[in-house]
Amino acid sequence: MRAVVLREFHAPLELEERAIPEATGDEETVVKVLACGVCHSDLHVAEHYFSSSPVPLVLGHEVAAETSEGERVLVYTPWGCGDCVYCRRGEEMICPSSSEAGMLTDGGYAEYMLVRRRRYLFPIGDLDPVQAAPLGCGGVTPFRAVKHALPWLGKGKAAVVLGAGGLGQFGIQYLRLLSDATVVAGDPSPQKQARALELGAESAAHPDELEGPVDVVLDFVGSEETLATSARLVDRGGLVEVIGLFGGTIPFGLGSVPHEAHFMSSIWGSLGDVGELVELARREDLRYTIETMPLEQANEAHDLLRRGEAKGRIVLIP
Ligand SMILES: [Zn+2]
Ligand SMILES: [Zn+2]
Repeated sequence: MRAVVLREFHAPLELEERAIPEATGDEETVVKVLACGVCHSDLHVAEHYFSSSPVPLVLGHEVAAETSEGERVLVYTPWGCGDCVYCRRGEEMICPSSSEAGMLTDGGYAEYMLVRRRRYLFPIGDLDPVQAAPLGCGGVTPFRAVKHALPWLGKGKAAVVLGAGGLGQFGIQYLRLLSDATVVAGDPSPQKQARALELGAESAAHPDELEGPVDVVLDFVGSEETLATSARLVDRGGLVEVIGLFGGTIPFGLGSVPHEAHFMSSIWGSLGDVGELVELARREDLRYTIETMPLEQANEAHDLLRRGEAKGRIVLIP
């Protein structure tokens, strides 16, 4: 089979011919990859941001595939050990001994992929695999974040989405679909502000111009600046979630943030989140832009993403 392989960190990916992986035991299975999204984290893996990533490695953790029985599925890729307390409740993405596909184990930049456990396969029915693939990370990550926030978001409540790029745009739509709260978008880019309004945000502005207090802030950037904005905007007793990987921090302690405000991180999604999101995507018309490229152009895809020139999510087709 053809696979695009990271052989060396900080070096271009290489197309190679490999044997199709073989499943052992009852739990493993091999799927035929139909589409694999390119996520910003793929760049991080290639740049050795995650110290435990091995090489050679097949990247790709947004995988839509076909099983040997001919069923089309979305693959859950934040694999955990399978039996710790987190894994037993389906939250494998916070397992302390994780082995995420495409990051620590071979992923979906290939024609076939070995899936460690059959429970990681979610049938997508008549969803287009190209549309479904990005739901595995880019779609489910904001979905989990919005689910965390729902107890804070009844009628008359307000949520701010900081960063109206790809993940933030999913976040705005989930907030509209799952809550009665008013949604406000904060982004320095006038184009992204306009897109946020199209997707149902009530208002959109530069983050510096936003005024609080609001019940929830979802920070899809995660920089020093956006975290400071989050702490400025959140109400007493409210919720700030950081989802963006920019790596910022803020001082935390009594008096440095609004009293009894909750600050938490939200990462990727659980098995339950992926199952629910597939159902939601089949029912609702989620809007996101996809650009497809052949698997062989994975390096070009990474370059576009690195330069910030991708027009939406890039999906590689083997
Ligand atoms: Zn990702
Ligand atoms: Zn575990």
